[in-house]
Amino acid sequence: MLKKVALSWIDENKSHLVGVSDQIWDFAELGLQEFKSSALLIQELEKHGFNIESGVVGMPTAFVASYGASKPALGIMGEYDALSDLSQKPVTKKKVLVEGAPGHGCGHNIHGTSGMAAAIAVSKALKAQGIKGTVKFFGCPAEETLVGKIFMVRDGVFRGVDAVFSHHPSTMNAARLGSTNALNSVKFQFHGVASHAGASPHRGRSALDAVELMNTGVNYMREHVVQEARIHYVIEEGGGAPNVVPAYASSWYYIRAPERSQVEHIYRWILKIAEGAALMTGTTHSYKFLTGGYNCLNLQTMADLVVKNMREIGTPTYTEEELTFAKEIQKTIPSENIVESLKRSKREDWQNLRDVIIDRTIPEPWGKGEVSGASTDVADVSWQAPTKEFSTATWVLGIPGHSWQIVAMGKSSVAHKSLIFAAKTMAACVLDTMTQPSLLKKMWDELEKAKQGERYVSPLPLDLKPPTDQFHPQ
Ligand SMILES: [Zn+2]
Repeated sequence: MLKKVALSWIDENKSHLVGVSDQIWDFAELGLQEFKSSALLIQELEKHGFNIESGVVGMPTAFVASYGASKPALGIMGEYDALSDLSQKPVTKKKVLVEGAPGHGCGHNIHGTSGMAAAIAVSKALKAQGIKGTVKFFGCPAEETLVGKIFMVRDGVFRGVDAVFSHHPSTMNAARLGSTNALNSVKFQFHGVASHAGASPHRGRSALDAVELMNTGVNYMREHVVQEARIHYVIEEGGGAPNVVPAYASSWYYIRAPERSQVEHIYRWILKIAEGAALMTGTTHSYKFLTGGYNCLNLQTMADLVVKNMREIGTPTYTEEELTFAKEIQKTIPSENIVESLKRSKREDWQNLRDVIIDRTIPEPWGKGEVSGASTDVADVSWQAPTKEFSTATWVLGIPGHSWQIVAMGKSSVAHKSLIFAAKTMAACVLDTMTQPSLLKKMWDELEKAKQGERYVSPLPLDLKPPTDQFHPQ
């Protein structure tokens, strides 16, 4: 009955919810600039009796919306940031909507809305049935830049929450058990002396030499760190013209590894290499730590719960028209890339999906022990309380991440159906967790085990402020 109230509310408000997602798709705002998107979500939640705390942790677009005051307190997270230069019309060919503008290339218009819908639906069920408990919607900005949740965690925004659910659009209906890489993002600046590169190079000290020697040092270091580590860099500035010894040069590094302690070890080594590069070149240097995050702890108990609810609710069916649209999108993806992405999903039955456009199956949770190369700030929340981000099939199989195809599908009826399915699944999971103390206890026991005795220490210095003035893509 409890779930029925929540699921019916979602059904009854389907077209309105879809409208919210489409509006956020239209806004397509970058991280920490999601003013219209966050305002829209706040407006909706307020309308349904949620208390709003906005502008949390010095981020104008971060907020917490709460309904209820008693324990247990269940959290739902929503993201709503877009990606730069991905503006695209909702059509099956690459067609820019607004030149140079951002686009929802990771489906966060749906992410924010499915979470919001689930939170409201849960509140309706609590009210109707007189159940004790609190539902909190965490409006999390700037996921793409790994900023929002990491600052929110550092400043205690998730304190007191008993479990957290989140939904991300994807190509599969999945509750994976794998982890993600921990990460540090850091920029290096070298200062040398400018001089005529032909007439008086002996009087110059090249900052670019320092950047290059630092990169060389890091590349030699690679052999001697855990082989799963991923270290990537760009040279942001390397001088203006060859005939002037560059007095200033800068680089930007991402350091990733499966565990936080591994990232920290490599990070400290890289700081020494930077120091060495400055010594070798007679330059000076400084560095700026931008952000850092943990690996994700995914729990079997939560994954099983998601799969159970997904199966009870049932995946959407699609009309001929929807499948034709999806097929046209899938045709723009080389078939070898589709096969490669299916293989990389590590699903046991991936072979069966070779000729599938949109996956309607709900597999058992999989991927225990796997670590994805990417990173997410959901991971930091997973160290505070049992946390599960699951996905629903929103896009065609094989679709590349952060692509025009994702933007194009973000407003389609296939995506809308996925949003509704996800919102229902999340509401059901939250209600189950809220009303079954033994389930919640099982989640906490499993979380303690997953931590392996490690304690979460925020990678962010205490005085570091959210980078509201800069954009740095994931
Ligand atoms: Zn995303």
